[in-house]
Amino acid sequence: MSINKQALNILKTINNTNKHYVNTQEDNVKSFSKTQNPTATLVMCCDSRAHTTSFTYTPENNFFIVRNIGNQYILNQGCVEFGVRVLNTPILIFLGHTQCGAVQASMNDYSNFHSSIIREIDHLALSIKKTELHGTDTERWASAVVNNVNQQVELAIKDFKDLLNAEKIVIIGMVLDIDNHLEDGYGRISVINVNGNIDINTLKTNPLVADFFQ
Ligand SMILES: [Zn+2]
Repeated sequence: MSINKQALNILKTINNTNKHYVNTQEDNVKSFSKTQNPTATLVMCCDSRAHTTSFTYTPENNFFIVRNIGNQYILNQGCVEFGVRVLNTPILIFLGHTQCGAVQASMNDYSNFHSSIIREIDHLALSIKKTELHGTDTERWASAVVNNVNQQVELAIKDFKDLLNAEKIVIIGMVLDIDNHLEDGYGRISVINVNGNIDINTLKTNPLVADFFQ
């Protein structure tokens, strides 16, 4: 199929979906048309398989979303800062996902990519603690996804220590399980970190996130 034919089909779908959206959601959009009041700042990967639709029916005016490859804090630090300190979201979430190509690339030779991509993967390669990864390539990959989320949370904790101490923010690390690696369902979200705490038994008894373990 030619590129124009492909593009036409894609654009037709976008246009039709938007018409439906306006028909059904116009009042909702009108309600927040003058100001935004999001409930969470969310840092997530660009991966097309990872979306807020897996945990909210109403992303609009709800999630202030920062996306980059590998859900990294440093790459868009200013955006995260804006969500947390200007929009005052009570929660900052770092959402990683299994099958993350950026994380996988950072564990291997990624020198053939364009320099702009290399630059972004470099940060991942530096932050993931490879000595903490064990097992098969698949297991190491899934562990690296978790490890990366924890590293991003740690970086954010350093910058938002004042807000954490004042109990004005909660920083959460989550993983979206796209390939059912944990065998708890394709698309399941796991909480793996709350304010730097990664002990599973402690998290299970933390009233903030205990429901995720039910
Ligand atoms: Zn990814």
